[in-house]
Amino acid sequence: MAVRLVDFAAMPLEKLYAAYRTCYSSESPVEIWEKIRSERINHDRIRQFIAERLKTGHASPLEQVVFWFAISNVSRSLSHQFVRHRIGISFEQQSQRYVKFKENRLAYVMPESWNRAGLGEEYEELTAKISALYARALAAGVPAEDARFVLPNAAPTNFHVMVNFAEMLHICDLRLCVRAQWEIRRMVALMRSEIKKVLPEVAVYLQPKCGENRMGYCDESLEDWRKCPLGKVRPHKSVLFDLYNLYGSHKARALSEREYHEVEEKEQI
Ligand SMILES: Cc1cc2nc3c(=O)[nH]c(=O)nc-3n(C[C@H](O)[C@H](O)[C@H](O)COP(=O)(O)OP(=O)(O)OC[C@H]3O[C@@H](n4cnc5c(N)ncnc54)[C@H](O)[C@@H]3O)c2cc1C
Repeated sequence: MAVRLVDFAAMPLEKLYAAYRTCYSSESPVEIWEKIRSERINHDRIRQFIAERLKTGHASPLEQVVFWFAISNVSRSLSHQFVRHRIGISFEQQSQRYVKFKENRLAYVMPESWNRAGLGEEYEELTAKISALYARALAAGVPAEDARFVLPNAAPTNFHVMVNFAEMLHICDLRLCVRAQWEIRRMVALMRSEIKKVLPEVAVYLQPKCGENRMGYCDESLEDWRKCPLGKVRPHKSVLFDLYNLYGSHKARALSEREYHEVEEKEQI
């Protein structure tokens, strides 16, 4: 698998700052940008301001920061999961209709678990047979769009992806979690480390959802949390409820109709 950050929209932190500032300032965006460009707002102030805003639920400015990735040699099994993300991300994927794979043997992705189970050789034999049949089908005049029907989930594929920061955070929430499948987890971890090389201030927020800069706790099942290596350092939601009930001045319980009325009637909470 290879993952490369090919580009990102220029001045991402400044864009985030200007986007947020526009919401909370009487100054116009032009005035805000003049301050940024003349460095009347320094880099540290920009970082601090963004860090404060990222603690809130005001997430739409994050959509104004965009990354482009080149990703290759991931499996079709991964790609099927990846393309389920539908908001704030745009994919171009290598076609099995227009590309005729010419290699004698396709570079199939093989999970380590097959080797561990002692079935690695059989896996290799089967995928080699598939490659041979695929090649014979093409040679016999079967169009690539039909020859591909024999290709398995292990078949390799490539992506050119554009994704905004808001969606990248969401993808990391889900796919850096150990509940996610290993291959997509590895790919998203590589996307994160690519961003970290050039924008460490941004990468610090790219965490699984239990991370201290994200939701902060695990909302998966208690059973999964117990198995997770991060469970040693990040709490499960049930633990937080236990603590709330133990030390809070109130006890957590289901919301009643009376509480809905209170929410409706209160002008400001
Ligand atoms: C551990 C794991 C197991 C999974 N198992 C399965 C499975 O067994 N079967 C299966 O089919 N899929 C499975 N999925 C895929 C999952 O159901 C989603 O398709 C995938 O996570 C991407 O969906 P998203 O809502 O996060 O999309 P994104 O596009 O990444 O969503 C971005 C954000 O926009 C919101 N959003 C997106 N579209 C809408 C909309 N139409 N209306 C309102 N809000 C929207 C989302 O809630 C999210 O906050 C699994 C995913 C994970 C992480």
